[in-house]
Amino acid sequence: MRFDTRLIHAGQPPDALTGAVNAPIYLSSTFRQSAPNRNQGYVYSRSGNPTRHVLESALAAAESGAAGLAFSSGLGALTTLLEAFPSGSRIVSVDDLYGGTWRLFEHHRKQFGVRIDYVDMTDADRTAATIAEAPVDLVYVETPTNPLLRIVDLRAVVRAAHRAGAVVAVDNTFATPANQRPIEFGTDIVLHSTTKYLGGHSDIIGGALVLRSARAAERYAWLQNAVGAVPSPFDCFLVLRGLHTLGVRMRAHEAGARAVAEVLEHHRKVAASYFPGRPSHAQYRLARRQMDGFGGIVSADIVGGRRAAVRFLRALRVFTLAESLGGVESLADHPASMTHASVPRAEREAHGVTDGLVRLSCGIEDPADLADDVRRALGRA
Ligand SMILES: *Cc1c(COP(=O)(O)O)cnc(C)c1O
Repeated sequence: MRFDTRLIHAGQPPDALTGAVNAPIYLSSTFRQSAPNRNQGYVYSRSGNPTRHVLESALAAAESGAAGLAFSSGLGALTTLLEAFPSGSRIVSVDDLYGGTWRLFEHHRKQFGVRIDYVDMTDADRTAATIAEAPVDLVYVETPTNPLLRIVDLRAVVRAAHRAGAVVAVDNTFATPANQRPIEFGTDIVLHSTTKYLGGHSDIIGGALVLRSARAAERYAWLQNAVGAVPSPFDCFLVLRGLHTLGVRMRAHEAGARAVAEVLEHHRKVAASYFPGRPSHAQYRLARRQMDGFGGIVSADIVGGRRAAVRFLRALRVFTLAESLGGVESLADHPASMTHASVPRAEREAHGVTDGLVRLSCGIEDPADLADDVRRALGRA
């Protein structure tokens, strides 16, 4: 089956009991046993729930993995992943990270004796050298990165990491499996904040891990139950509902992003703009090789710094100023004071997250309305 068909059918047979075409929401926390330890596959909803299992097998099919695991948030999925890397472990991570991931690494995990080294993964040689520097357990990647939309060569990173005996995890929240399936490049673990494009409607908080091997899946399913950051059956239903339309939504998001990127690229109030689907993007060729589409996020550095960026954000009418991304409605973000506020200024600016940077998550409104909104707001910046 091709991708759009898989989203709707793979891993989602009609309900065995009733024939319901869509997964029923099984709200039961516990399940009857006919004798101690004799049951129909479900015991307690933290360890397994029928609605969650449909979502988990649909996620595995979408990401070309052996198994999927759903969590109560993206950071819940990451926390559970990190439980597999005890004190003494070494992690090599991409340096342009989601702010909450950075906070969890720097302000929490490090105190438990986990060493975390950051590297600019757009430089494949430096990445390979950093990985080889010392024994390494986990290589952690985001591509495209947030908010600067840099592209990491997954094939090259996987090769270097596996040579060193490390596991590779990729946060695929920005690209989504519609545009990039890291497991097809040899990645071991894919992570999602399903809060974003997979849910797609800004109405749930959720996360997921998808594992390449069935053996790893067993280990992480054990951790999922032991740690307990599981989603509610209703949230699982909503993510599943979002997943069905992921293909058409991602094409609509990209149409909006293209229209906005075109306005930004040549505007005198814009010092720099970032969208991997434009030939002007520094890694356009790599993006085309690795991705089937480029997503709905566009970032821009507004001339005049923070004050101009704030004037621009306040002038927007179709875009709403709010954290998060990936919903059907367009959202705007000021990374320096919102999503990346926990990253110190020097570190932020060294990576290009300046006070003038704005991040736009293009929704599925008419692309011409999004372009008009941005053009008009730039006139007020
Ligand atoms: C939002 C986000 C997360 C965290 O997910 P939550 O669902 O908010 O916990 C992780 N990675 C990326 C790239 C994100 O955008």
